[in-house]
Amino acid sequence: MNTTATPSVLVLGAGPVGLATALLLRARGSAVTVLEAAAEDAPRPGSRAIFLHRQSLATLAAADPVLGTELVAAGLVWGARCTSYEGREIHRRTYPPPPADRAPFSSLPQPVMEELLRAACRRAGAEIHWGAPVTGLVSSPDGVAVRTPQAGHRAAYAVGCDGARSAVRRAIGVRLRGPRSPHAFLVLDVADDPGRPLPRERAFHYRDPRMAGRNVLTVPFRGGLRVDVQCRPDDDPEALAGAAADWLPGLLPDGHACAVTWSSHYRFQQVVADGLTDRYGRVLLAGEAGHLFAPFGARGLNSGIADAAAAAAATVTGDVAGFAAARHRAALLNRQAAGCALAHLTAAAPWRHAAQRLAAAAAPCSRRAGSWLDRAPYGPRDAGIPGSRY
Ligand SMILES: Cc1cc2nc3c(=O)[nH]c(=O)nc-3n(C[C@H](O)[C@H](O)[C@H](O)COP(=O)(O)OP(=O)(O)OC[C@H]3O[C@@H](n4cnc5c(N)ncnc54)[C@H](O)[C@@H]3O)c2cc1C
Repeated sequence: MNTTATPSVLVLGAGPVGLATALLLRARGSAVTVLEAAAEDAPRPGSRAIFLHRQSLATLAAADPVLGTELVAAGLVWGARCTSYEGREIHRRTYPPPPADRAPFSSLPQPVMEELLRAACRRAGAEIHWGAPVTGLVSSPDGVAVRTPQAGHRAAYAVGCDGARSAVRRAIGVRLRGPRSPHAFLVLDVADDPGRPLPRERAFHYRDPRMAGRNVLTVPFRGGLRVDVQCRPDDDPEALAGAAADWLPGLLPDGHACAVTWSSHYRFQQVVADGLTDRYGRVLLAGEAGHLFAPFGARGLNSGIADAAAAAAATVTGDVAGFAAARHRAALLNRQAAGCALAHLTAAAPWRHAAQRLAAAAAPCSRRAGSWLDRAPYGPRDAGIPGSRY
């Protein structure tokens, strides 16, 4: 394989995981070309993954300290979390403001993260080809050949970061396996009202009477508030979104403007690829190309950044089998953790419902009961992956 005139690694897809992979590869001295299907100015709407965990911030800051600082400055750290049950607050925890250099996380819209990652990739000298969808890929023991409508590219390795409908995954004959939640969730972004800032607290409402008993999660991010509503089986999520003007004001502080900037609804997939590499160990899958989880516990993007770091290391050490084994195991654990959260939230088994009701009744005198109700919607904190939360 010619490694002088051709890039040594092709990154396929310039979503957040592809951009992180390109940056981490450049930090290791690899020559990188990114091929992205969309145009550079294509809109990437919605807050989507709003929670960058401390570990992801540290991974990115190690590659580019400026990026680390910018990601913290562009986000916010909410200082309180509260949980209510049937309209009654049962648990509250407040946190002192963290020192500027030790943010525990940063909450910012995914498009802002992507802008900052793109700028960091430019600084690092990663070449990005926009409007260049991968239409063909062939791997061999020596490397990878990739085709786009414009050109052919060859490299020693390719990292497929082309998202849930990955063409790279299909090209290497790998399939996603796992269930899909039958429950629909509705998500809305509400813009900050400059005159009336929203409280910087994350709130989880079990069986919220303002929403006729549905579960509601609200999470602030820089610029707005994310509202997640767990639909009932007989809900039409689009109709519920269309009627937001009727119910949303009740969830916001009095008089706050209901400026909905984005809404979407979805049923979660809990799927993991049956392998994260091709048979020659030349193509690696990272991020949603390799797994999709319910978002509780913020395991989507944060685990994608852990994949990116592991993939960048593997292309340098050549231990692609080690990458595939470790990140596949991580994906299964992440899915299991997100699955615990989903089972708690949907409470399909009557005993879960009863346990939640009992814990809510006990919460005024048992901090432990309130804390359990507060934490359970996110699944276990540590998915059992040594050295990593994701
Ligand atoms: C409604 C919604 C809410 C979400 N909420 C959360 C959340 O709260 N927390 C969380 O952690 N995550 C959340 N996510 C998931 C989060 O957005 C993903 O984890 C993240 O975008 C995955 O990044 P990625 O780079 O793997 O894939 P993507 O962001 O999908 O990027 C893939 C890129 O590959 C490009 N591409 C596709 N096909 C090709 C091709 N053939 N050739 C070249 N390029 C190609 C695409 O254009 C895209 O730019 C949410 C997602 C949605 C949709």
